[in-house]
Amino acid sequence: MFRPMPTPYDPASHIRTIYLDQECQDSPLAKSICDRASVPVKLLPPRTHPPEQRQSPHGLTLGKQNLLLCNNRGSFFKPCPGTKEYCCCDYQVLNIGMGCPMDCVYCILQAYLNNDWMSFFVNTDDLLSELDLAFQRTTQFWRIGTGEFSDSLAIDHLTGLSPILINYMRDKNGMLELKTKSANIKNLLDLDHNGRIMVSWSLNATRIMAREEIRTASLDERLHAAKTCGEHGYKLGFHFDPIIYHEGWQEGYTATIKALFATVPAEKISWISLGALRFLPALKPFALTRFPASTFFHEEFIIGLDNKYRYFRSLRVEMYSFIVNLLRQYVADHTCLYFCMESDEIWQECGFKPGESSQLPDNLDLAFQQTPL
Ligand code: SF4
Repeated sequence: MFRPMPTPYDPASHIRTIYLDQECQDSPLAKSICDRASVPVKLLPPRTHPPEQRQSPHGLTLGKQNLLLCNNRGSFFKPCPGTKEYCCCDYQVLNIGMGCPMDCVYCILQAYLNNDWMSFFVNTDDLLSELDLAFQRTTQFWRIGTGEFSDSLAIDHLTGLSPILINYMRDKNGMLELKTKSANIKNLLDLDHNGRIMVSWSLNATRIMAREEIRTASLDERLHAAKTCGEHGYKLGFHFDPIIYHEGWQEGYTATIKALFATVPAEKISWISLGALRFLPALKPFALTRFPASTFFHEEFIIGLDNKYRYFRSLRVEMYSFIVNLLRQYVADHTCLYFCMESDEIWQECGFKPGESSQLPDNLDLAFQQTPL
């Protein structure tokens, strides 16, 4: 019997107040965001920083209810801050704002950002000018993503940014990846994207998604959103990141992978990444104060070459091998499976050919180009 999907939870409904930098009060984009959000809007004197709330980790819990609209005075467009010690995929990051209204226990941004409020940059003309310069400087095929310091789509129905970016990318020598844990795809469905856009979802074991990813879309909602995007000609990506060791992890990741391929056509998937949990030392006390019932931080970790904690090599290889072997039963020939921030030795121990990790940027470009619309 046909069972319609219930309307997914709207993470933006968590926002209680918009703070508008006075400098941006004439920005048409800022005005339209304030109009679309039915919450109070408060003006802040130019360049005022949000009140300092970092005295308590709980400030971030409150901060996720506040959205600051302001201009970005730094760069929008940078290479991904991958570390030179591990294999890197040569990805470019487009910074559209900071933070998100969802709340993942493992979110690295908790330890990384220096203010608790979500922010969104409304000077999109500057963003596009910077992109213009970047595209003029090179003939390289850019792989660009907006999901590094924020979620690409969680508040997109307020900001209206995805139509701007998708329209811009239509005739560029590159692709844009919109990475999300939401099912907020309404803005995408009627756009002419010319095959330059990938929509991707972070996935995890069923128990991790249910317990450690607060206010995110359920597995069912993410997969149905992905299926719908595929039907609208978008290419798809998935990220098993962070892979978290927990009792029943094999069953949990198996259930997610089976659900993925039961819902989404394999040929629409350009790439699937895997990355085991890694975190800055500062994150653990911060996250455990906010989420004392979480247990996964109490496992044993080593400090990696990038000064982040990670699982012992043997456990990483065990989990990666299990998940890769399972994925290989389902993926299309053109789909690129890869590890985020691992050495070539780990790739080989998990069944990849020697040197395959160093071909990753080319393999990702090829996988994207070979994925049918
Ligand atoms: S969705 Fe991403 S940015 Fe938002 S809390 Fe989770 S990990 Fe952090």
